Amino acid sequence: MEIAERQMSTYQKILNIPVGKIDNLIAIHTDLARSIEMTQQQKRKIIAAEMNGKAYDQAKFDKAIVAIGSTENHGFHLPFSTDTFVSQALAEEIASRMENMLVLPPLYYGMSEHYQHRPFSISLRSEHLIQVVRDILESTYRWGIKKIVIINGHDGNIAPIEIAAREFKAQHADARVVSLDAWWVSAGNLLPKDTFEVWDGLGHAGEGETSIALALFPDLVDMSAAKGVVPDLPPHLDIKWLFSELTDTGATGDPSKGSREKGEMMKAALVDAVVKSLQELEEVDWRYESLKLKKQI
Ligand SMILES: [Zn+2]
Repeated sequence: MEIAERQMSTYQKILNIPVGKIDNLIAIHTDLARSIEMTQQQKRKIIAAEMNGKAYDQAKFDKAIVAIGSTENHGFHLPFSTDTFVSQALAEEIASRMENMLVLPPLYYGMSEHYQHRPFSISLRSEHLIQVVRDILESTYRWGIKKIVIINGHDGNIAPIEIAAREFKAQHADARVVSLDAWWVSAGNLLPKDTFEVWDGLGHAGEGETSIALALFPDLVDMSAAKGVVPDLPPHLDIKWLFSELTDTGATGDPSKGSREKGEMMKAALVDAVVKSLQELEEVDWRYESLKLKKQI
């Protein structure tokens, strides 16, 4: 007996489901397994880390997407690579819905100097991260891929990515670089106001980040250890804090309010929004220059 059938016959006994309905359930179960398998196969064809030269030559990539993450403490309950896992998962999901977009290997390290008070933060200095991002952009461009999407996973990376991308663009006017700088802010803006219970879901390893972790890699989340502190910061000013000034748990916000459902909503809203914008760019071949300009690049 197939595994699916065996499982279903067990369910049938436990739940006392009429025999006719079992066939439907088996069909749904098998369809679901097949569609998950297909999605995995489709994704594998666009993941650079798993690709060989033959597959690359047969494909026609004209766009690339790269996740820039971090390795740092994420409270007592989330893994150190949370920022990489989230940004890479978003990148893969976005690319799987686009044509000819190559998913570059993610960067597992970021600028985490302000998260140094708890293990296991490994930080690239800002100037190094600028150079690393710049080199990734330059190398990608060298292979003829001039449309590049950056998915950032971590607050300390925002400024280095900005500098690297601006400098790269100044050197290569025909390149197109776009970025999702702060998914944790974008998610809050995209979802209904009452989605989150505490501090608009914000925080490092807070309600929002814990939610998306529960949606993307639940096996690596220990909700029994989810504790945070909501900091009392003034509005309109960006305080250049050390994380140890805000919390003694490695987390801000309220991770205990995180849920898989909220995380699924965040992921769907973010992917939909980015894909929609990218498709609008595709429609004009990424020629976003203002039409009134006389001289086109
Ligand atoms: Zn994080």
